[in-house]
Amino acid sequence: MFRAIEICTDLTERKKAVIRDVLTSYRKTAKKVASYQWKLFFQTGAFNRKANIKHLQSDLSERYKYTVQYHAVVPVLESFISNVQNRFKEIVLNSSLPEKRKRVLLYLNSRREWLWIRSEKALWINGNTKHEYEITPEERLLAKKIFKHILKRWKKPNFKKVSLLLDSKCGLLESPKKAKHFDYWIRLSTKEKGKPIYLPVKLHEYFHSKDGELSGLIQISEDGRIRLVKEVAVKILELSGELALDFGMECLFATDRGDLLGREFYSKVKEYAQKIDKLGRNLQRQKIKPLQSKRYQRLNHRLSEYVKSEVRRILNRVVALYRPARLVVEDLRYFVKRVINGFPKAVKRVLIRFGLGEIKRNLQELQEEYGIEVLYVNPAYSSQACSNCGYLDKENRKSRNEFECKCCGRKLHADVNASRNLLDRVRWGMRLYGVKEALAIQVEKFLENLSSERYKCLWGKARGLLAGMPATVSEPETWNKCPC
Ligand SMILES: [Zn+2]
Repeated sequence: MFRAIEICTDLTERKKAVIRDVLTSYRKTAKKVASYQWKLFFQTGAFNRKANIKHLQSDLSERYKYTVQYHAVVPVLESFISNVQNRFKEIVLNSSLPEKRKRVLLYLNSRREWLWIRSEKALWINGNTKHEYEITPEERLLAKKIFKHILKRWKKPNFKKVSLLLDSKCGLLESPKKAKHFDYWIRLSTKEKGKPIYLPVKLHEYFHSKDGELSGLIQISEDGRIRLVKEVAVKILELSGELALDFGMECLFATDRGDLLGREFYSKVKEYAQKIDKLGRNLQRQKIKPLQSKRYQRLNHRLSEYVKSEVRRILNRVVALYRPARLVVEDLRYFVKRVINGFPKAVKRVLIRFGLGEIKRNLQELQEEYGIEVLYVNPAYSSQACSNCGYLDKENRKSRNEFECKCCGRKLHADVNASRNLLDRVRWGMRLYGVKEALAIQVEKFLENLSSERYKCLWGKARGLLAGMPATVSEPETWNKCPC
């Protein structure tokens, strides 16, 4: 895992001008390399980081050109395509296509076979059983159409604003022999052969405090700000099992084991947000711009620091407590819709500005630093369904925090119940599904539970409730043997 950290430099105007000049050529070259890579992609189905690009004209050296291709262009295009892939998945899952067709399309998508024919059959593994499906020409055509539809709507990366990202070939990090007031020199190749410029680098405490080894990668932006990239080793923890987290409005996270974490989070955020709002209004009355007020900035800074440290603290605690191999979390878009939008304006603003990004970043870091797999799932109906018997009813949720099943009578914290439902869905291999499917799974679970001995005392009760379920459900045959 890589982490770019800004360091202190003091550059002369001349050096800054040279950097800008190199950057202009770098961006132009990136554009050319990108259009060549797209050509490759449509021909072969893949980008190539090491493609031969000798024939592409550029006023940069060959070494620079390959650096552009390797570090700047291909990784960006790769991540663009993987976003397309995710969008494809979403479209298919939310469609009303027949199950078999969905599976074939998802298979083609997972292999990136949108335009090219490679597989004869589609494989689908569900638990221990393997299924094989014929791929029809219509399905191939449909895959192509969906793929082209997404590409047409999305802007391809244009590299107009990329920073220089260099390795030792064009930007070498050297220890100074004499000068003691610098930690490193960056030997930056320019457009003139044999005339590099030297950029002094001073490391600060924050840089040292972050884990990781210097990777040799250097990032330089237009205004001459420099970042050095550290490589962080994956920490080896013994991980096992799954843990689900549900975002609550009372506490930040509820786990399926029953923990309520971050109980004071929202009230603290609210307190800060109100203070900041009040101060903002006062400043406005005095015709002072908030950004000119030190106190205003200090408060904002403290708030963002609080959000940062609290989110990190809670997620680290989750890892320390359970060491899960997989973390099941509700899709963050629903977190915005369901939780964040429920708060007053001032709090909402803070959560969107700091909270959401911080949660995303920390979950990402858990993946990178510990190798914990984070699975995002659609939370549809997870708050209304009973995690014990599966019965689904709006009335199950008595208040924001209280859940009481109208069928089996189970009482528990509403967020804990929701997180158990999220976990169940992952365990059944239903990770990506639309709203309709979520409903179908829930109903299926309920009926399955009712046919087992354990719940047989509920049959009578369930019969009356079945009519109220939000899907057309018929009584299972086994009910004829119902003792009640
Ligand atoms: Zn129940």
